[in-house]
Amino acid sequence: MQEIHHPLMNQTLGTSREIVSYHFGPSDVGRKVYIQSSLHADELPGMLVSWFLKKKLRQLESDGVLTGEVVLVPVSNPMGLDQHVQAGHLGRFELDSGENFNRNYPDMAELIKPELPGVLGSDIDANARAIRRCMQESLAGLPAETQLQAQRITLMKLACDADIVIDLHCDWEAVLHLYTADPLWADVEPLARYMGSETSLLATESGGNPFDEACSQTWYRLAAEFSGQFPIAPNGCVSITVELRGQGEVSYEQADADASAIVAYLGCKGYIAAPVLPLPDLRYPATPLAGVEPIKTRVSGVVVHRCAIGAVLQPGDPVADIVNPLTDEVTTLIATRGGRVFARHVQRFATAGDTIARVAGNEAFRTGNLLTA
Ligand SMILES: [Zn+2]
Repeated sequence: MQEIHHPLMNQTLGTSREIVSYHFGPSDVGRKVYIQSSLHADELPGMLVSWFLKKKLRQLESDGVLTGEVVLVPVSNPMGLDQHVQAGHLGRFELDSGENFNRNYPDMAELIKPELPGVLGSDIDANARAIRRCMQESLAGLPAETQLQAQRITLMKLACDADIVIDLHCDWEAVLHLYTADPLWADVEPLARYMGSETSLLATESGGNPFDEACSQTWYRLAAEFSGQFPIAPNGCVSITVELRGQGEVSYEQADADASAIVAYLGCKGYIAAPVLPLPDLRYPATPLAGVEPIKTRVSGVVVHRCAIGAVLQPGDPVADIVNPLTDEVTTLIATRGGRVFARHVQRFATAGDTIARVAGNEAFRTGNLLTA
């Protein structure tokens, strides 16, 4: 195992921060997996999963069975880890700019597109190597004016040339679910099976350039852009955001099992010279991210949930009540389209406009920005 420290530019006098990456297996065979956790810094289940992964990968490395490089970044957002206000941890948005830590990653396809006609040819593997080289060169030349930008660029440098990227998050209260791109679903489906994913949400463009899409989108966009001209694998980077249930679901047993599931996936994708573990059934078919109905409230009050997380609802079924103890009014929020309740808010007080829960339906009906703020 190699441990590398990546200092971030200092934002304020007298402080310093760094990203620490751990590297396992051979780095010279042209195959690479990148795994990071807790990009939203108050989402801790993945950090514990990374801790188990570090132990398992170290063992696999010493057994000599890793057939490609695995890069692990357990603490991907040291800036957000340090944002505590009056005993509350605020790890989703940077306090200074208000920006979401998982948005606004560099658009690699746009950055490298002008250079590609000069370096691409008829060999799809050589083209993949050229694209990865162009991305690294482009990132090396990107200026970082703030520590937030430096953090984003550092993470992208570590991830952009990987074949597989796994970004470990969690939701407020949720079943295990994941986000990936439509063209990658066949590659991701085994991970959904091993991890027991209960909802798998697909989109080619979620909006806002989150980390996973910044890694994967480059490939299927460039493959379309240069179609008929140069062969490019649309799945050159199989990137997935895994939501490891709810924020409070941090336990040794679960984290160990989740880490084992990720190792099983790496085995399935040929990164471990050992028998592939049998694939469990897929618990629930993939659905479009554009089919997710946010259950919003127009009124304020106490939230009383009417169904369990993971429940499958029919159109018109109740999701939650909003109780106003001043007027005695009870407002029932319903799922208008039906589907699986895969996530809900952790707070039990609603302000008008809040999203109380999200329901994954089978049919796409939304457009524009598909992710929550
Ligand atoms: Zn997150």
